[in-house]
Amino acid sequence: VSTSVSTPVSTSVSAAAADRSVRPPLPVLGRDVTVPLVTGGEVAYAALDYAASAPALQRVWDDVAAYAPYYGSVHRGAGYLSQLSTELFENARGTVAEFLDCRPTDQVVFTRSTTDSLNLLARALPAGCEVFVFETEHHAALLPWRRAKVTYLDAPRSPRQAVETLERALADRDPHGPALVCVTGASNVTGELWPVRELAAAAHAHGARIVLDAAQLAPHHPVSVRDLDVDWVAFSGHKLYAPFGSGVLAGRADWLREAEPYLAGGGASRRVARRADGGVDVEWHEGAARHEAGSPNVIGAHAIASACRALTEAGWETLVARERHLLERVRAGLAGIPQVRVLSLFGDDAPRVGVLSFVVDGWSSSHLAAALSAEYGIGVRDGLFCAHPLVRALLGGDPHTRGECGAPEAAPGEEPLHAVRVSFGAGT
Ligand code: PLP
Repeated sequence: VSTSVSTPVSTSVSAAAADRSVRPPLPVLGRDVTVPLVTGGEVAYAALDYAASAPALQRVWDDVAAYAPYYGSVHRGAGYLSQLSTELFENARGTVAEFLDCRPTDQVVFTRSTTDSLNLLARALPAGCEVFVFETEHHAALLPWRRAKVTYLDAPRSPRQAVETLERALADRDPHGPALVCVTGASNVTGELWPVRELAAAAHAHGARIVLDAAQLAPHHPVSVRDLDVDWVAFSGHKLYAPFGSGVLAGRADWLREAEPYLAGGGASRRVARRADGGVDVEWHEGAARHEAGSPNVIGAHAIASACRALTEAGWETLVARERHLLERVRAGLAGIPQVRVLSLFGDDAPRVGVLSFVVDGWSSSHLAAALSAEYGIGVRDGLFCAHPLVRALLGGDPHTRGECGAPEAAPGEEPLHAVRVSFGAGT
């Protein structure tokens, strides 16, 4: 197997690619791109790295292109296009709130990404707030809280153990102070679903609040803030079939209203005046604008809203059933290779979204990933997936040991230090 990475991607559309018989529930751009192989010839590219960034839906690009000639700066412009853009931007909040089944009093703040959303919430924690987070989280959910008192919870080995672990930790805290639990809806490593509703009930029973990292859940599964009874939800546009650069934090308004603005600047400030002593007084906005200083990413918000509408109209039943079918095919294929070990925290039967990581005995994961690309045109990912403690625990290592992103991989034949991840979705 050769592991050299091939020459630049061609963007021609081959007859074979155009002819592919299995159509995805939602057409995405890039599906017909062909890539050269080191073995000669070219092949239709198979994007199996949706968990990192999903290809954008054709419909999202169409909506963005239809709006492009009309966009203008939002909120402060008197011109027609400014008014149109403001309406589009504000309507996008409504679409997202509907998509997430938010409570009427919830606020939708547009951010850059899930990472940005969780960092924004971390800045809005009330004084003395304690934070509880499983060590298994993506670094975006694990790291933003470090200025607060954080309790890192050990990796549970079942959904029930997750709830019990959280309950035990919360029972030990001062019940009068504020507390926040941060949990993922679906793991970006194993794809396994977490017991969000039960964790939310445990959090609330102990006077804590909960934020759901839905970066991997929202593209694959309906999310209902009301049904799950979570206080906030964060997700990223680029994983939800919209382009890069936009994200969402939706949920309770109070902590956000009372916090200092995430960014200081125009848009967040209602009134600014010089003081007699030479300083400057600022009165900040109270709504979503408080945390959206600067000119917002109107196209990004519009694209997210378009993706939300497309997913809803395609129907979750169809999308989930199709993804389950693909997942079963992938699992059956891998099960036929004795050297493959699929990584799982909650066991083989645990429900999961279309995200799956594995190692192959005697093989280096990075060599495998490179070979899949160079020889088959299949785009997967290898590594620790920004969840170092989790992947180390799953590979049988010590989650507490240090290790760097991009650290050297095991040589073929040694114990794997990385895993290979395959992920897909509505455009597959
Ligand atoms: N949370 C999870 C579970 C993720 O998988 C990711 C990205 O892979 C993130 C958060 C961070 O998302 P972003 O990079 O879009 O901020």
